[in-house]
Amino acid sequence: MNAGIVDQVSDIRGIGPKRAALLKILGIETVNDALYFLPRKYEDRRNICKISELKHDRKSVVIAEIKSVQCRRSFKSGINVCTCEAEDADGIISMVWFNRKGLDKVLKKGASVAIYGLPFFCKGKVEFSNPEFKLVDRSTSLKDFTGIIPIYPTTAGLPLKWLRKFIGSLLDENLFQLSEYLPQVIVEKRSLPIIRDALLGMHRPRSEDHWKVCRDRLAYEEFLFLQTALALRKKKLKMSAGAAKISPGGRCFSDFIKSLPFELTMAQKKVLSDVFKDTGSGHPMSRLLQGDVGSGKTVVALALAAAGTDAGVQTAIMVPTEVLAEQFYSQAQKFFLPAGIGCVLLKGGRARSEKIRIAGLISKGQASVVVGTHAMIQDGISFSNLGIVIIDEQQRFGVMQRGEIVSKGRSPHLLMMSATPIPRTISACLFGDMDISLIREKPKGRAKTETRVIEKKKIREVMQFIINESAAGGKTYWICPRVEDDGESELISVKKRHEFLAKHIGVLGVGSVHGRMDGDHKNAELDKFREGKTKVLVGTTVLEVGVDVPEASVVVIESPERYGLSQLHQLRGRVGRGNRRGVCLLLVDKMDQDIAERLKVMLATDDGFKIAEADHFLRGPGKISGYEQHGTAEFKVADIYRDRALLQKAKEDAEMLVFEQPWLLKERAFKEKLDIYLKNSKGMLSKG
Ligand code: ADP
Ligand code: MG
Repeated sequence: MNAGIVDQVSDIRGIGPKRAALLKILGIETVNDALYFLPRKYEDRRNICKISELKHDRKSVVIAEIKSVQCRRSFKSGINVCTCEAEDADGIISMVWFNRKGLDKVLKKGASVAIYGLPFFCKGKVEFSNPEFKLVDRSTSLKDFTGIIPIYPTTAGLPLKWLRKFIGSLLDENLFQLSEYLPQVIVEKRSLPIIRDALLGMHRPRSEDHWKVCRDRLAYEEFLFLQTALALRKKKLKMSAGAAKISPGGRCFSDFIKSLPFELTMAQKKVLSDVFKDTGSGHPMSRLLQGDVGSGKTVVALALAAAGTDAGVQTAIMVPTEVLAEQFYSQAQKFFLPAGIGCVLLKGGRARSEKIRIAGLISKGQASVVVGTHAMIQDGISFSNLGIVIIDEQQRFGVMQRGEIVSKGRSPHLLMMSATPIPRTISACLFGDMDISLIREKPKGRAKTETRVIEKKKIREVMQFIINESAAGGKTYWICPRVEDDGESELISVKKRHEFLAKHIGVLGVGSVHGRMDGDHKNAELDKFREGKTKVLVGTTVLEVGVDVPEASVVVIESPERYGLSQLHQLRGRVGRGNRRGVCLLLVDKMDQDIAERLKVMLATDDGFKIAEADHFLRGPGKISGYEQHGTAEFKVADIYRDRALLQKAKEDAEMLVFEQPWLLKERAFKEKLDIYLKNSKGMLSKG
């Protein structure tokens, strides 16, 4: 059997070029496309009742006999008004339609008609306005008028009714040809409805439960293809050899560890032992390190790079912004210089000669560690022996970029790091081709950051608090929702707030930083803050990712309702990184029930994973930023949050197929579908 019914809809009788073009807009070119074109929602018309049973505000179907019909043109408005009365054994309804000229030729006295609409009760009379209707005689079926009716997304020029009929007839005529393509073992193990039944149930569900079983089958299937693709990639990585063997214990590594002013946490040690187990094997590592903000991922990355230097390979560390690159680089230098590890920073805005010099250090292998933004993949940089790729804040990069940096080496080890907490079950699935390490513990001596919600009218108290805090050695970030005023919105801007604070607490030194500044300017402002020349830094969410100033102890966030909870958590993670406990002040216009409810989780926990779950719960599925960027998460039916149990099952099954019963992957029908999937997701899955 083929991978679906590929007959073109344009070849169907009655479908001219115009209709075919409209169907194409909807993505329907073949019969198969039409069968998989799923309703957006449904209309429940199962309630067929007698006129006497009609209820106000409840859409219903009644069947009645027409008593009288009258169509006329309103003098005043010129609108054509058609009224009709009908009755059943114990009640009368009246109906009215506007601009349906000629209805009186269709609705005839004495005929039976099924009506669907919202009844309106007025002075003891029941009225329907513009109801849907269908004439009934002995031979008519009410199949497509009552029951659960599919509502398809459609486009101008293709009426829903037509589309419903079109898809309905294709179902009747073609569905039987569609055969199952998932391996039999899986269909049985998971008690899945076969594809034919599942599609029928989506288009014509008999009940809510019936629909759910069918929907789940399709969601599961989407996950299964994704997971199979990921598992195949994982298998390929595990089989490929030729990666540099890297282990701890060499001179650079030991000197690096000695140069640290602190002891690694248990969690950091565990991650490193996972990492070295991989990198010692000769196969390329592919690992995701998830750790909450401030959990100390940078040191882990640097330790790996140090061991890489011992092994004679280069490490590329790619970070999303220049500010972060600078910061990463300066942390690296602190520990690498004593260990004698050569590290360079790649950044824009440098003199050409300087760029050439650095590129030379990299291509000749004199620079052992290279820190930079994605400029690393663009600027014609070549490595002499790239053996490790580390990507920080990986959620900020597209999958393509990750693939490109990896392709600059020969089977390099890949370590991706992320502070965006995703519930573990989900990350394990989305990153099914990677191994995952977690850091949940934070370095010792960190007190929990205290979080408070404060009304804006108390801003003077906030300023006083900041003054006291500075006197005690602390520093403050002040986050505003926008850079400049545009006159329309009342949201405070960085510019305005900066002026205000400079006027009132200017003695502390108030700096500002935002995304519209160029890199050097930004760095200068951050440096002033780091060195203590300014004690207050006003900024936008450019401060969200990874900025690390250990003395920062207060973060004020204006209009916190503008941000997702995970984002607030990231911002909050900017403070309390050194020995001083952190304070996070959420500045709201006015305290109300909604805001309190939403921010409750922030006050209750500082576990980024819990917050991520709550975030999702509040924002509803499908909107979490980051997933869309991942690209592989674009499902037609499935929702990674709502369907995580299915996701888990699909992952198990995919691994069973790939690692235990690979011959099942060769079954023709499944292979064809999988090949199509792999082809369509190329670029998202094929690299990196
Ligand atoms: P993140 O995981 O958010 O990238 P960082 O790597 O920037 O966190 O670490 C946050 C801060 O904690 C840094 O100032 C770093 O020097 C410090 N740090 C890292 N590991 C430890 C440790 N084991 N003990 C004490 N401080 C640590
Ligand atoms: Mg970091």
